[in-house]
Amino acid sequence: MSGILDGKRILVAGVTMDSSIGFAVAKFAQEQGATVLISNFGRALGITRRIAKRLPSEPPVLELDVTDEDHLAGLADAVREHVDGLDGVVHSIAFGNPETILGGKFLDGPWPDVAQALQVSAYSLKALAMACRPLMGEGGSVVGLTFDATVAWPAYDWMGVAKAGLESTSRYLARDLGPQGIRCNLVSAGPLKSLAAKAIPGFENLESMWSDRAPLGWAETDLEPTARGVCALLSDLFPATTGEIVHVDGGYHAMGA
Ligand code: NAP
Repeated sequence: MSGILDGKRILVAGVTMDSSIGFAVAKFAQEQGATVLISNFGRALGITRRIAKRLPSEPPVLELDVTDEDHLAGLADAVREHVDGLDGVVHSIAFGNPETILGGKFLDGPWPDVAQALQVSAYSLKALAMACRPLMGEGGSVVGLTFDATVAWPAYDWMGVAKAGLESTSRYLARDLGPQGIRCNLVSAGPLKSLAAKAIPGFENLESMWSDRAPLGWAETDLEPTARGVCALLSDLFPATTGEIVHVDGGYHAMGA
């Protein structure tokens, strides 16, 4: 049976648990015929290695801290140990200190913690795309994950600002990498019960109102719709789409009340 990602080589950065959106992306991408590599960083790397065995086919696990210049500089060679290039890169990475800049701490959030959130969650899309650019000589697709940054949300605080930065970064990447045939798009997902979401104090309140308002309904434990959206953007089905944000949120964003 042929899949929409047959023959594609894809790096999914940001897989910790099987509750990670990146895990669901890696799984669906493999089911659609892709050769997948996954990455994570630091102490959680051991967890990622164990979780990788739960995928249909165990992928190579690379170490990548997106704030580490050496990791970024060595990424292309690390990827080449497994595949000779990449057709797609998924940025499924975010971090903000839940104690200081999330969960109602907006007015008091200290700059070093805000700076860290902006670097890990927004600037890193550019850093990752550039680290992978030498591997995408024949063009490719970069896809990231956002949470609608056009409005202010309860609890999301400085991560909302970081997501606004991510959304803008994606558009500038689309501008500057488009001439080399590299597309850059985001999926704007509804709330999903991942480790990152559980760490945000008060985020669970968003989850309950989402399923009430989204015309298609919304299941915060079902990662597959989001994974399918990411994989569609990785595929050849959107050849003329870049700088775009595709909402995979049950239609919530389009409703006024
Ligand atoms: P997740 O499983 O916690 O994934 C976030 C990943 O980022 C983790 O693997 C985390 O690693 C990694 N990470 C953090 N700092 C890093 C660094 N310096 N270098 C490399 N990796 C780093 O949570 P998720 O919900 O799947 O998040 C994936 C993406 O989807 C994020 O961009 C998130 O904002 C976005 N998103 C999530 C939701 C939601 O409701 N869950 C909704 C819309 C968009 P560690 O676990 O080791 O820290």
